[in-house]
Amino acid sequence: MTEALFQQDSYMKECDATVVSVKDDKYVVLDRTLFYPKGGGQPHDTGKILRGNDQFQVVYVGKFSGEISHEVDRPGLKINDQVHCVVDWDRRYRLMRSHTAAHTLASLTWQSTGALITGNQLEIDKIRFDFDLENFNRDIFQNLISKANDLFKSDIPVKWYELPREEAMKIPGIVKMAEAFPPEVTKLRIVEIVGVDKQADGGTHVKNLKEVGQIEFLKAENKGKNNRRVYFRLVQ
Ligand SMILES: [Zn+2]
Repeated sequence: MTEALFQQDSYMKECDATVVSVKDDKYVVLDRTLFYPKGGGQPHDTGKILRGNDQFQVVYVGKFSGEISHEVDRPGLKINDQVHCVVDWDRRYRLMRSHTAAHTLASLTWQSTGALITGNQLEIDKIRFDFDLENFNRDIFQNLISKANDLFKSDIPVKWYELPREEAMKIPGIVKMAEAFPPEVTKLRIVEIVGVDKQADGGTHVKNLKEVGQIEFLKAENKGKNNRRVYFRLVQ
């Protein structure tokens, strides 16, 4: 099982690792990684794997049968290779800011309307939310965004830790995504924006709300009864 360093320290930009397996000359599993695999609405990381002077670009990272698999741009990596990994930090940091912004907004929405998020997707240039809510309009969302922007000016820490599933499930609103966690998951990773939100989540986040910056509304779409889709983005 690969050690997921990004879950312990989302600010780690480089690490050493050992190649555990290589499939089809381009799908690489490491003993430890800081590359986030696509999932939970957060895109995969990119970056490079270095073996001495040899450089392999990481073009995709996914989770398959519980294994984090790194797709590299060319063949050559072998089992037991000692490598050095470097994550594309600009991309990752933007996604961390976006992810924490999304949790803040989801929490404000849930507190003021009771709406759950039925889908969400972070992208480099925008963030998409789907809400299960009939009476929802642009004004309501604009208002929530300005409330969120006030919070992003505050010195509010963001923490992450594990809790036993039973204990975690007692926290109101701990799962704001409408989809449930599979029953075999006995420990949940909690991302807590102190005083704002607690959410079961495997993604990477900034450690203080101030790092988010500001967000702005982009557009809203009506996707049918009880399904409102909105887009927003980081201002910078
Ligand atoms: Zn999340």
